[in-house]
Amino acid sequence: MRICQCWDDGNLDDIRLCELLRRHRATASFNLNPGLMRAERYHGWDYRGSKPVWKLSAPEAPAVYQGFDIASHAFNHPHLPQLDDATLARELRDGRDRLEQMFGHPVTGFAYPFGDHDERVMAAVRAVGHVYARTCANTDDVMACPDRMAQATSCHHQDPEFWAHYARARAADGVFWFWGHSYEFMGEDDWAQFAAKLERIGADRSARWVRLPELFAV
Ligand SMILES: [Zn+2]
Repeated sequence: MRICQCWDDGNLDDIRLCELLRRHRATASFNLNPGLMRAERYHGWDYRGSKPVWKLSAPEAPAVYQGFDIASHAFNHPHLPQLDDATLARELRDGRDRLEQMFGHPVTGFAYPFGDHDERVMAAVRAVGHVYARTCANTDDVMACPDRMAQATSCHHQDPEFWAHYARARAADGVFWFWGHSYEFMGEDDWAQFAAKLERIGADRSARWVRLPELFAV
C-alpha cells in the first residue's frame, strides 16, 4: 500500500508538523497560498474561536518545508467558482508561478480552497498545467477517480473512520491519502495522537510513503 498526505494553508504549526514528519521519515505535500504570505508572520484568525492561527512568513517558508513537496492552493484562497474568468485564471497562474519562484521547483499539484470547484474551475486548473486537483471528498479507491481535476482522498486526518479507510486501502494494496490543517492540533493530546498514527504506519511493513507528484507523474 502506498501512503501519502497533504496539509493546507501554510500555518505556523506546519513548523512542528514538518519536524514530526521528518522524524518519522514521512513524505508530505503542503498546499500554499503565496498571496497570503507576507514578509512577517501574522495572526490570521482563531480556529474554533479560541486557537490563534498564525500565517508563516514568505521568507521562512523554503526552510520550513525543506524536503517536502509544495502544491498550489490558489493565490489568495478564494471561492474559485465565484470568480470571473480573468480573475480565476490570474489566481491559478499567480499561485503556481509565485510558488515556483519561492521554492525553485515545478509546482504541479493543486488543492481547491474550501474544496470548491465546478467544471469551469476544473478546466481552468488543468489549463494552467496542474496534473491533479484535490477536493474534500472521500473515496476508498484514490486512483480510480475518473478525473484528476476532481481528485478525492481517503479521508481527513481526524476522520473517526481513519483506520477503517486505512484497512480498506491496505486490503486492496491501494493508496491511502489523508489531509488536514496543522492548526487542527488543538493541544498536546492531538499532537500525540497524530504521532501515534505515524508510528503505526511506520511499523506497517506493507505501507510505503510516496510523494504526490510521484503518484500523479504523467
Ligand atoms: Zn485552505
